[in-house]
Amino acid sequence: MSHAPLHPQATVRSQQMLPRGHRAPKWADVPDEKWFDWKWQLKNRINSVSELEEVIRLTESEHAGASAEGIFRLDITPYFASLMDADDPTCPVRRQVIPTHHELEPFMSMMEDSLAEDKHSPVPGLVHRYPDRVLMLVTTQCASYCRYCTRSRIVGDPTETFNPAEYEAQLNYLRNTPQVRDVLLSGGDPLTLAPKVLGRLLAELRKIEHIEIIRIGTRVPVFMPMRVTEELCDVLAENHPLWMNIHVNHPKEITPEVADACDRLTRAGIPLGNQSVLLRGINDHPVIMQKLLRELVKIRVRPYYIYQCDLVHGAGHLRTTVSKGLEIMESLRGHTSGYSIPTYVVDAPGGGGKIPVAPNYVLSHSPDKLILRNFEGYIAAYTEPTDYVGPDMMVPDDWERKEPGQSGIYGLMQGERISIEPAGFSDTHHRPGGVSHRLNSREDKWTAYGVGAPNPASVSDTSPDGKVNVPIPVHSGD
Ligand code: SF4
Repeated sequence: MSHAPLHPQATVRSQQMLPRGHRAPKWADVPDEKWFDWKWQLKNRINSVSELEEVIRLTESEHAGASAEGIFRLDITPYFASLMDADDPTCPVRRQVIPTHHELEPFMSMMEDSLAEDKHSPVPGLVHRYPDRVLMLVTTQCASYCRYCTRSRIVGDPTETFNPAEYEAQLNYLRNTPQVRDVLLSGGDPLTLAPKVLGRLLAELRKIEHIEIIRIGTRVPVFMPMRVTEELCDVLAENHPLWMNIHVNHPKEITPEVADACDRLTRAGIPLGNQSVLLRGINDHPVIMQKLLRELVKIRVRPYYIYQCDLVHGAGHLRTTVSKGLEIMESLRGHTSGYSIPTYVVDAPGGGGKIPVAPNYVLSHSPDKLILRNFEGYIAAYTEPTDYVGPDMMVPDDWERKEPGQSGIYGLMQGERISIEPAGFSDTHHRPGGVSHRLNSREDKWTAYGVGAPNPASVSDTSPDGKVNVPIPVHSGD
């Protein structure tokens, strides 16, 4: 494993988990009724250089970042700010929420909307990228702001937030799109919405019959665990099945207060998962990541994703290589329980969606042997059955979900088509100066027998011996 030289101010103290009730001296005298009131936390967020200096000793780079014009919004709840180490700039909490001058540096391939979410948005705030699910952005506000935010193009900007007419347009799209069975509420952070607004949105979604599950992505339990009140849990529990992913990047963020908030949510019947972003100088160390994942499982939060940091403006200095992520994944599988192992994904630039990346465990294969290696380097041959031909049971028709235009690689396996070509493939291969001639003019030459939609005119359902044939499709299903 390669390491950068240790930062001269790095301490073990700044990494360690903190006890219940930990507060920075600035807020030592705030009465508990205020401290544990989430509205007080929101109202008293810190966002200026002078306020930050009351809590931590800013480095030159942090000072420059926090005073720069036009940076992504800066706001930190007193609760979360209290987790920052005052003297150690390598503190993982500090690095997530305090800007540095590096945010202003451009980097190769950075984009404003690197996942092309707005391009895949049929109505404002709704991103329809996958066949059966959508992302519904319901607010641009968060409890605190992460310096690597993928949606920094809109998040934190109250003028970009969504209004009732846009909520209605989102709901209407969903009412009219029966292929959607799963809605992920995100933003911004849905749990910063007024409980009534959130309750109304959830209730409207629940009225749509084809929506099977609702998910919420939130960092509120981490930035402001006091927001997870019994009242909020009741509102959520009225709208089951409801799933939730929180977002923790470092074990230090798991305080007893966060553990309590997660306990309230799980007792309300909400299965909890966690999404982390792999971040330079924060969690790009196998030991830190292993500790984080173990601590999550202890509070009944299932690690779900580790994201490769996106190519988004301002986040260049927090990115790692993908090989670092693979090294971390190698340190997990076999070394800890499967429940503690999330999927490592790269969200493909341009809107390709999440692509899992993992160390390669299959070394080779022949028709009857698969050669595998385990985490220790043990190499084994798995003998394949030689008589396997696939399943023979009936499957109810209505279990199959149509994925118009998005069946992808699975569609190739199912024989829907013979190839997937890049845009413009045919045009490129009609070379300039080329002509249509006797050898290239018949399209049916390249029609793969048995692939694509059935053509009853050319294939009979019954053989001469009376046996029923499986219909054989005859064109490539373009
Ligand atoms: S909580 Fe999520 S949406 Fe809000 S700033 Fe952080 S990453 Fe962005």
